Amino acid sequence: MKQKVNTLIITSIIALIALCGIQAYLVYNTYQLKKDAFIRETKKAISNIDNTKEMDSLAETWYTYLSENLVEYKKNNILKKEALNRFKPITDSLNHLFVLYYKKEIANRNLEYDIQYKKDIKSIVIYEEEELDTIFSTIDGENVYSFGEKFPKEDEVVMSKARWFTDLDYENEINGGSINVSLDIEVRTVDYINIIGWKRIVFKQMAMLFVFSVLLFLFVVSLFFYSIRNLIRQKKLADIKTDFINNITHELKTPLATLGIASKSLRKEEIQNSSDAFANTLDILDRQNSRLQKLVDQVVTNSLGSEEIVINKEEILDDVYFQNVLKDFELSVQNKNVSIVSKIEFREVHLSIDKFMFTTAILNVLDNAVKYGKENTEIIFRTYLKDDQYEISIHDNGIGIHEKEQRKIFEKFYRVSKGDVHDVKGLGLGLFYTSQIVKAHQGTISLESKPDLGTTFIITLPITE
Ligand code: ADP
Repeated sequence: MKQKVNTLIITSIIALIALCGIQAYLVYNTYQLKKDAFIRETKKAISNIDNTKEMDSLAETWYTYLSENLVEYKKNNILKKEALNRFKPITDSLNHLFVLYYKKEIANRNLEYDIQYKKDIKSIVIYEEEELDTIFSTIDGENVYSFGEKFPKEDEVVMSKARWFTDLDYENEINGGSINVSLDIEVRTVDYINIIGWKRIVFKQMAMLFVFSVLLFLFVVSLFFYSIRNLIRQKKLADIKTDFINNITHELKTPLATLGIASKSLRKEEIQNSSDAFANTLDILDRQNSRLQKLVDQVVTNSLGSEEIVINKEEILDDVYFQNVLKDFELSVQNKNVSIVSKIEFREVHLSIDKFMFTTAILNVLDNAVKYGKENTEIIFRTYLKDDQYEISIHDNGIGIHEKEQRKIFEKFYRVSKGDVHDVKGLGLGLFYTSQIVKAHQGTISLESKPDLGTTFIITLPITE
């Protein structure tokens, strides 16, 4: 059974982790989808941002500068590197206009968030019949030509890619004569945008989903723990019930067997003829009968909680009462090796108790001192006043109770596992009943114990004024 419960717990934990993983995966996927949709919408909103007259004229100016420099280069008046160097300040000087234009355009779109925009020139290539002359390419190095604002690579979202072709016509003078040269220039550009705070916007859109996912997860986890806790409790209860049935069967067997033997022997002539033997057998019948009665009573009374116990209190004087309880107890253990030391303080304290019930409670503790005692049982019974409370302490030199068991022994049907208590009979009800009786008297019961050294039970009672 324990194995089954453990397997169930492990399987459930694995299922829970898997569920958690799937949930996280689904949330992540939704995040990606939302992010893509958001970016798509933003791109759509600014799709024709550079389709304006201002941008066209700016591009034209830039191309003119480009052409002029490339012609110079082609005419061999300047080197490629110099052409590029000249080209850089031109790009930079046009940039402030570019930023101004696109900012105006973005503002016109009335978006609820800010966008940075840039256009990177990726390459400039001259097509010369079959040959290609790469003037500049980002594949070779840094991104030198860029329009727009600067933002880190990780924030870049590609907006569009473009290839521009333009003619480059010029007259070239060779050997005193001039010829018309026509070349093609290809400019590759990539447009990027940086949507400021897009993560916050996407997370905001997903807030409800997040909250629901977390709540659902917490709900499933608590449901899981609640079920497991219940399962363990049920299992414990089932174990307790099985133990109880075993114990009560065990307890009933002896008196029943003795009753059987005694009644059989009553039929025997020699017993009937001897009045002593007859009386003896009747005594045995009586004792076993009262033992059975006690057992049944124990089971019946123990189905009551402390609130249900009906107590009929009466005023007693502590010393008289306890002396009598001890006297009766001494009588019941006179054949056993038990020595009792009593230290009842003669203060004539008035207590209000149900004599019958409270005696049962005290006797349960005293009985246990013998049941779980050593060969020579020593019991110290003390009563005294402490902090305006009446205290009864019952100390024994028995087998003691392990610390982790101490709280449990007051539970219904609880018995310390057999390994520790050997073959001592019991139902695990005595201390439960005792604690219920003490509680019904507005008192408390506690214990101090060390395995092998002994146990001290302390019962406190309120004092009647
Ligand atoms: P029972 O004696 O019928 O088992 P109790 O409720 O009286 O039931 O006691 C519960 C358990 O507490 C016992 O099974 C025993 O293991 C332990 N116990 C009680 N009193 C003592 C004691 N004086 N010394 C050692 N163990 C004790």
